[in-house]
Amino acid sequence: MSGLFTEIGAEARAPKGLVPFRFREVGGDILLTNFLGDWVFLTKAEFGELARGQLAQGSSLYEKLSSRSFVRETLDEAKAAERIAYKKRFLSYGPNLHIAVVTLRCNETCVYCHASRANMDAVHTDMTPEIGEKVVDLMLQSTSPAVTLEFQGGEPLVNFPVMKHIIEYALARNRAYGKELEFTMVSNLAMMDEEKLAFLVDRKVQICTSIDGPEHIHTKQRILAGGNSHREAIKWIERINKAYIDLGLDPTLYHVEALLTTTREALKYPKEIVDTYVGLGCRAIFLRPVDPFGFAGKTAQIVEYDRAAFLDFYRAAVEHILDLNRRGEQVLERYAAIFLTKILGDEEPNFLDIRSPSGSGIGAIAYNYDGKIFSSDEGRMMYESGDGFFQIGDVFTSTYRSLMKHETVRALVMASIRETQPDCVNCTYTPYCGIQPEHNYRTQGTIFGRMRESTLCAVHKGIQDYLFDKLRTNDPKTVEILRRWTTVRARSHFIHASTAS
Ligand code: SF4
Repeated sequence: MSGLFTEIGAEARAPKGLVPFRFREVGGDILLTNFLGDWVFLTKAEFGELARGQLAQGSSLYEKLSSRSFVRETLDEAKAAERIAYKKRFLSYGPNLHIAVVTLRCNETCVYCHASRANMDAVHTDMTPEIGEKVVDLMLQSTSPAVTLEFQGGEPLVNFPVMKHIIEYALARNRAYGKELEFTMVSNLAMMDEEKLAFLVDRKVQICTSIDGPEHIHTKQRILAGGNSHREAIKWIERINKAYIDLGLDPTLYHVEALLTTTREALKYPKEIVDTYVGLGCRAIFLRPVDPFGFAGKTAQIVEYDRAAFLDFYRAAVEHILDLNRRGEQVLERYAAIFLTKILGDEEPNFLDIRSPSGSGIGAIAYNYDGKIFSSDEGRMMYESGDGFFQIGDVFTSTYRSLMKHETVRALVMASIRETQPDCVNCTYTPYCGIQPEHNYRTQGTIFGRMRESTLCAVHKGIQDYLFDKLRTNDPKTVEILRRWTTVRARSHFIHASTAS
């Protein structure tokens, strides 16, 4: 970028009459973004004009900038204020995601386990029904009108009776609150049976699993004692999807969600991984890099890789997904969809790790099996690895108010406001981006983080560079597909819309 200023040389003058903006070279042109999240591409010649202060009213450059809210005198301030309030409306709610770790026990051993699993005989890591009830009591006090209770582990099916009890208790208690209530379970599915499935389908529990790609990768990375982890997962995904069809639900909307954790081995197979997901009926693939939490920190030498290699994998996989879309397949990549929703419109997808401030404490709360409460599930994993920094209370003594006012929660909010962070404050992608303070803490020892050394920032920057380059190239078919990825279709079947009684 400094080359640009060398070209402009001594003639460079701060442009007058513009709103504050940030800029970055993308694919040979200059991308400008402003505080509203509006953006525009200029050629280098246009940018040179701007930097020499040659912005004549009525010129094509002036009109271009004005139409995208970059010109101060034509900016509708009231509308701008409205737009910002709309984008940040999540700040008016309390935490909507409540993660209950009902056990640490797990029947599979994974190379990248984030959750700090315990062996199957560690029954002392099962949540008790009493603790489960206290989790629900706290969750329902959230000022958010809609709450999701997500069951995690370990493997939540290991402690199924308690999970069942918590669901029944939450449904009963919610009659006094009338919140929109949803349940989600993250499971490897190997302990599923017809009886459990019938209960989960009846109580509208969304089911999410992990698929590492084709069978040879999945079974190598996820060891199921005495069984085949891939075959079990596939068998149950198909069975559950059929249960939704039997209920008359639209299979494009209602199906098992599957998540990928991209390991070093997986990087070799972008197309095969996408095809595996599409073959399972998945309409959304989340290409996430491996996390540094839990056991993954210890097994980093096996699963970790350079983020440039991840971005090569990401681009190859998304190009394949775009090709499939061009051939009529409706499938999207989740990271891209999150960023594009903010880039192409004013909607905020409220994905807690990619928003500013992040959801730590104010968007999500995690409850450990023993009743300890954390600002996020990653914070809970840090505790299981011996660092209790992110603990903000426990279900026995904490009140909802004390959790929200906890000094750690306040620090996490401050640390994740992008406009106040060194590096992010000058980054062109600030309007769309977000960072997990837990990731900074785990990898750099500070919740504030140094973004130019952050692997997560490298991923966010790389993905946004890729997406903006697609928008710059402006191929109508590709842009139409990217736009379609931002359409949200609500899965209302999963909502328990209880009326208070
Ligand atoms: S995290 Fe990185 S990409 Fe995102 S706003 Fe900050 S510096 Fe930019």
